[in-house]
Amino acid sequence: MGRKRKRIIRTKPIPTLPTVFDCPICGTTNSINIDIDRKIRTAVIFCGKCKIQTTKPIRPIEERVDVFGDWLDTLVEESEEGQKTPVSEEKSDITDES
Ligand SMILES: [Zn+2]
Repeated sequence: MGRKRKRIIRTKPIPTLPTVFDCPICGTTNSINIDIDRKIRTAVIFCGKCKIQTTKPIRPIEERVDVFGDWLDTLVEESEEGQKTPVSEEKSDITDES
C-alpha cells in the first residue's frame, strides 16, 4: 500500500567540522578529543593514546578546530622555547679592515 513512493531525503551538505584530531605528541591519528564547555569557556584537550590532557580557556566563538590549532601553536612555541637553537651559525666575522 502506497509503498512505491521513494522518499528522497535531501541532505544539505553541512560542512562538518572535525571533532577528533591527530595527536602531535604521540602521532596517533584521531586520538585527540576536545571537550568544550562553553559555560565556563574552557576546552579540555585529551589524547586517548598518550593520555596527555590540557585545559585551555577559549573564546565563545571558538570551535574544536580552532582550539586544536591554537594548542598546536602553543606546543610549537613551547618546543621552540625549550630548545633554543644554539648559535651554531655564528660566523666568526673577522672583517679585515685593512
Ligand atoms: Zn597522544
